[in-house]
Amino acid sequence: MLTVLWWAQRGGFAPALAFRHWAVSEQSANNIHAPYRVALVLYFKDGAIMRLSNVAARTYVGGDLRRRRLHAVHGTAGSYRREMDSVYDFIVVGGGSAGSVLAARLSEVPQWRVLLLEAGFDEPTGTQVPSMFLNFIGSAIDWGYHTEPEPAACLGEKDRKCYWPRGKVLGGTSVMNGMMYMRGSRHDYDGWAAAGNEGWAYDDVLPYFIKSEDNRQMHDVDDGYHGTGGPLTVEQFPYHPPLSHSLLKAGEELGYQVRDLNGAIHTGFSIAQTTHRNGSRVSVARAFLRPARHRPNLHVMLNATASRVRINTTTRRAYAVDIVNSYGRSETVFANNEIILSAGAIGSPQLLQLSGVGPADVLNRAGVEVIHELPGVGRNLHNHVTHFLSFYLKDNNTAPLNWATAMEYLLFRDGLMSGTGISEVTAFINTKYVNPEEDNPDIQMFFGGFLADCAKTGMLGESKGEGARSVQMFPAVLRPKSRGRLEIVSPDPFQHPKIFANYLTHPDDVKTLIEGIKFAVRLSETGALKKYGIKLDRTSVKGCERYRFGCDAYWECAVRMQTGPENHQAGSCRMGPRGDPLACVDPLLQVQGIDRLRVVDASVMPAAPSGNTNAPTVMIAERAADFIKQRWLGATQVCIHL
Ligand SMILES: Cc1cc2nc3c(=O)[nH]c(=O)nc-3n(C[C@H](O)[C@H](O)[C@H](O)COP(=O)(O)OP(=O)(O)OC[C@H]3O[C@@H](n4cnc5c(N)ncnc54)[C@H](O)[C@@H]3O)c2cc1C
Repeated sequence: MLTVLWWAQRGGFAPALAFRHWAVSEQSANNIHAPYRVALVLYFKDGAIMRLSNVAARTYVGGDLRRRRLHAVHGTAGSYRREMDSVYDFIVVGGGSAGSVLAARLSEVPQWRVLLLEAGFDEPTGTQVPSMFLNFIGSAIDWGYHTEPEPAACLGEKDRKCYWPRGKVLGGTSVMNGMMYMRGSRHDYDGWAAAGNEGWAYDDVLPYFIKSEDNRQMHDVDDGYHGTGGPLTVEQFPYHPPLSHSLLKAGEELGYQVRDLNGAIHTGFSIAQTTHRNGSRVSVARAFLRPARHRPNLHVMLNATASRVRINTTTRRAYAVDIVNSYGRSETVFANNEIILSAGAIGSPQLLQLSGVGPADVLNRAGVEVIHELPGVGRNLHNHVTHFLSFYLKDNNTAPLNWATAMEYLLFRDGLMSGTGISEVTAFINTKYVNPEEDNPDIQMFFGGFLADCAKTGMLGESKGEGARSVQMFPAVLRPKSRGRLEIVSPDPFQHPKIFANYLTHPDDVKTLIEGIKFAVRLSETGALKKYGIKLDRTSVKGCERYRFGCDAYWECAVRMQTGPENHQAGSCRMGPRGDPLACVDPLLQVQGIDRLRVVDASVMPAAPSGNTNAPTVMIAERAADFIKQRWLGATQVCIHL
């Protein structure tokens, strides 16, 4: 039994507590890291000492300590390859949400040799702390895309460009996402099938959602829609800020029920289930790849950027991938069976274009030889779109992260650090443009606030600045009609493609978003939220001062100036039946006109689902793994644990 000792930086108190595993002390760090004034020192049972510079420090708390714990559990070191063989049966490009699933599922077949190529490095341990999910945006694990200057959105941003974070790391964007587990509505998938994509109706895809899932709250969700025993842990965060419950009550006041939004009915409010386990993020790599890492037939290459897929121009068959390895050298690796692109909604169409597959005019301008003209590659790019509304609460504006919060997390994996504050709440609501009877809501409400992400001192009561605490509500348009595109500009795989998002170019998107904003304002006026003294920030958005605050013209100006670009990029390599001139892949996700080449990730979605996109991407990859097994083994393997 070791002893836990605390003493405050300024000698305020010195209680002694006893715990079994490690001893903790809080003391002055002598400003080793200049901005920090507090250190947490952990004395482990085995004699190791760990010094955390500031209880509230971002990656230290989440980093070193979590790395230690994680390595003890998972032992990731040494799992990845420095060199690869020259031939594999399957090559998967991109180790993100889809690629992690595919590499794991394909390597279940012992006689198949599988290579996974990932441009980024391994998942930093700090990403596993749920409350820090925003800290990695703009970091080294973010591709950090910017759109081209937008014609009708992001007008208040520098050069009218919207920012698009995307994960450049094993696990991809599932390493930096908000962990919300949402599948979308039955109507989304039935719509995909109705557009000619046989096998993608809701009843076809539901078994694949269930296959992945290890739902830890089966008693709280609808019967027949969820499973246990899959690799992806799904459960609510352990701690809910009181405001989360009040938001649910506010929704009920407006006529919405609190329910499992991945079950029988898609309309309503919920504290969402998330992809985390015991207070720590479960990225798709952690869920699927780590358990598979010792398979001798699975090789994972990190810091390996695919630069081109080689295609035989006579047989129209893909046979090899060129990569730039971690030493900056080019190599070619060959595939006996198939090459699968899972590089995401930007990376996959970019790589196809770099390989000579895409719209001829784009390839010609970029100086890339046209191998196969496929006009749909890079088109149909779209995303949900939102606008952030700020509300003030009658509450001190103190930092939610302090030493007590940190200790609660470190010791018990509980408290504000084990979640994303009120971002855990979501709702699917109907504007006047949809029929509520159809259960096909057109707005998803998101919330933000009480996020224990960072603090200056980590002391209790640290002020975040003048004024009251603020929270955010942001309605997102679920079925945007605006469409964009992306185009490479040169054969250089490291040059970002030009992204034309074209947000809000369709007037219906603006109208729906304005109705979503009005709903958020109504929500703030409910009795359930009155007790917080919640008030809309009525400061005019810069550039919209000429409009009367709150009228439709004002909101239109506001959403165009301060556009919330959302993070659900999809559709840039959409599936469609054979003969559809703008389809990029067929319903088996095979690139149209090319053999042995598939695309499997969010880019194949004909239309983004009505909700967050991680779980649907995992489902797509599960489904693709079965398509591939069916082609090469003649059998599918849907195994469901209800
Ligand atoms: C801030 C943020 C919050 C989000 N919150 C949620 C949420 O709460 N819930 C939810 O469901 N969804 C959320 N999402 C969206 C969701 O995470 C993504 O839709 C999903 O992860 C996309 O999966 P993917 O496989 O298509 O792409 P990715 O996961 O992005 O994977 C693509 C992978 O390919 C790699 N790659 C790219 N090019 C190459 C190349 N040339 N060679 C080798 N490797 C390459 C990339 O590095 C990356 O690892 C969020 C996204 C963001 C950015």
